[in-house]
Amino acid sequence: NVRVRFCPSPTGNPHVGLVRTALFNWAFARHNEGTLVFRIEDTDAARDSEESYDQLLDAMRWLGFDWDEGPEVGGPHTPYRQSQRMDIYKDVAQKLLDAGHAYYCYCSTEELDARREAARAAGKPSGYDGHCRDLSAEQTEAYKAEGRAPIVRFRMPDETITFTDLVRGEITYLPENVPDYGIVRANGAPLYTLVNPVDDALMEITHVLRGEDLLSSTPRQIALYKALTELGIAKETPAFGHLPYVMGEGNKKLSKRDPQSSLNLYRERGFLPEGLLNYLSLLGWSLSADRDIFTIGEMVAAFDVADVNPNPARFDLKKAEAINADHIRMLDVKDFTERCAPWLRAPFAPWAPEDFDESKWQAIAPHAQSRLKVLSEITENVDFLFLSEPVSDEASWAKAMKEGSDALLRTAREKLAGADWTDPESLKEAVLAAGEEHGLKLGKAQAPVRVAVTGRTVGLPLFESLEILGKEKTLARIDAALA
Ligand code: GLU
Repeated sequence: NVRVRFCPSPTGNPHVGLVRTALFNWAFARHNEGTLVFRIEDTDAARDSEESYDQLLDAMRWLGFDWDEGPEVGGPHTPYRQSQRMDIYKDVAQKLLDAGHAYYCYCSTEELDARREAARAAGKPSGYDGHCRDLSAEQTEAYKAEGRAPIVRFRMPDETITFTDLVRGEITYLPENVPDYGIVRANGAPLYTLVNPVDDALMEITHVLRGEDLLSSTPRQIALYKALTELGIAKETPAFGHLPYVMGEGNKKLSKRDPQSSLNLYRERGFLPEGLLNYLSLLGWSLSADRDIFTIGEMVAAFDVADVNPNPARFDLKKAEAINADHIRMLDVKDFTERCAPWLRAPFAPWAPEDFDESKWQAIAPHAQSRLKVLSEITENVDFLFLSEPVSDEASWAKAMKEGSDALLRTAREKLAGADWTDPESLKEAVLAAGEEHGLKLGKAQAPVRVAVTGRTVGLPLFESLEILGKEKTLARIDAALA
């Protein structure tokens, strides 16, 4: 039975790297009809926050992920928040100490720094040098008498560690590159290095899929697992797979702090969860060489971690938007109109709520659906219908209003006044005919009409837009532009 976990720390806002990790774990669990454990790694009181925790859960729900064990759903290994599992870690740390797999280390930061510098200068490995590995009872007493508070350090076995990464194949670490490491702080607080593998063991995780930035902790965790197995705490060591880095602008690693990486940004701009997930799945994986657009169901059906590409993936906002646009087009119209709702009211919509006209919205929505990259673009595409006057900005006006535009607009107004307002074709004929009188092709002739009526140089199909706005308002706006 496949058991995977998604175990973020609740710090800051959710970011796209986190979502990619969640997605790959979720897809792997669902593909294998396994179990997804959602665990909250909140052992760093200084950095974790309840607000972040709430945002994480909200993000997971918005993305459409479900989990089989974890917050809100419970499970056989409750609690799933590490801050509520402190007794467990304390107990395991004691067992590791008792069995000699861990020891108290009294070295001060200054001493550690000085020895590290000296080792570096001598060209030797600069990790922990094993100073406190085998202190005598007297030395220990002497340190205690000085009032030193020890950390707990894990004793790495003196052996080469080799494992087969599910994404990168065989990886080997030599002992000199994996020194003994701290697992409990001097104040008694257990560290990620302990709590993460202990929970993976207790929760019987079979596959660990996580970012490449955690690759270097894997040999340590494998060694710890071995000790835990000996103590009867772990059953079997999970398989590990490290997902490739995501590169942002300038080929630098996308960092949590990059505005581009904030999930909230994508939500506010109106990415569909299915569009965003489709795009994020391509950061290291692909369905097939010739298909970028697919549903989450198709991803689940095809997902195999062995197909993940170990090379860094490049984050490409343009491509993300193009994929999202496809997913917007794939919605049925009713779903589309409902999902646009947030951008049709405050704080996004600039018109008064009472000026929003549902029937006009229903009429225009199908014309908008095929033109949006993100849902937030709906606002500026339909505002001309609900504002008492169209938006006006000089740049658009200058772009559309050329010499002779006034004359054209006058003719167009005349012809539009006599057109059949139940038929956009008839409105088009009117503007076409006006253009002909002034020696202008349709494209040139409709530009001043568009800007007079909608305030913009680009937008939805013009004649459908005019029909929906209505004869009276359209003509009044042309008059206003001519005044
Ligand atoms: N809480 C860790 C993080 O968010 C999890 C790392 C892991 O997957 O092992 O980075």
